[in-house]
Amino acid sequence: MPEEALAAADGDCPRCGKPATLCVCAEIAPIDNRIAVLILQHPQEQDAALGTAQLTHLSFKRATLKIGLSWPSLAKVLGRSVDPRRWAVLYLGSARASQIARGREVVAVDRKGAALPEQDAALAEIEGVILLDGSWSQAKALWWRNAWLLKCRRVVLAPHRPSRFGKLRREPRRESLSTIEAAALLVSRLEARPEIETTLSATFAKLLDRYRATRRQPSSASSSPAAKAASATTG
Ligand SMILES: [Zn+2]
Repeated sequence: MPEEALAAADGDCPRCGKPATLCVCAEIAPIDNRIAVLILQHPQEQDAALGTAQLTHLSFKRATLKIGLSWPSLAKVLGRSVDPRRWAVLYLGSARASQIARGREVVAVDRKGAALPEQDAALAEIEGVILLDGSWSQAKALWWRNAWLLKCRRVVLAPHRPSRFGKLRREPRRESLSTIEAAALLVSRLEARPEIETTLSATFAKLLDRYRATRRQPSSASSSPAAKAASATTG
């Protein structure tokens, strides 16, 4: 599609915000999810190349992406009245998850990070999940600036498989999973639909393949996607 390639060369993809060389969003067919997805993105999240918030947003029919630092309530974020106790925020502390509920990849925890005794009942009540998108410190800032998150149920992840990121991302991230991997794991486990994880995982793998391919090419100053991505701003 030469026309599209030309148009994209002038700017990032208007749909996923990525440089043309990294855009995989045309192939995304949104999943008809029952568990809603809310992504809160820190405004300084700069990872235009490998960030996955927008791809996650595009991957679900019921997903909301908000960029900002603080909101007065979950209802204000979503624009409708909801019970925050039926929404689960991916909690920042996850170290003990694998020990406390062996075999489970999504674990409901209390305020001290300990697994709740009635996992199935706790997880069955969840109607939406909240992901904080950004570096560790950015996610922490979002956590502390949004007191209403304390009313939400907390879940942690204990993924059986490591992130596909491998060594591509230097900065240690929450759960060391990308936002798209975390959303995939949460929704697929809560809905008991493994195909959701397979689909999102494939999207993420395509992005990483493209990224690795661009890095293998000899860098030609400002036209290199990495340089372009680094200077890109969100529109
Ligand atoms: Zn795109």
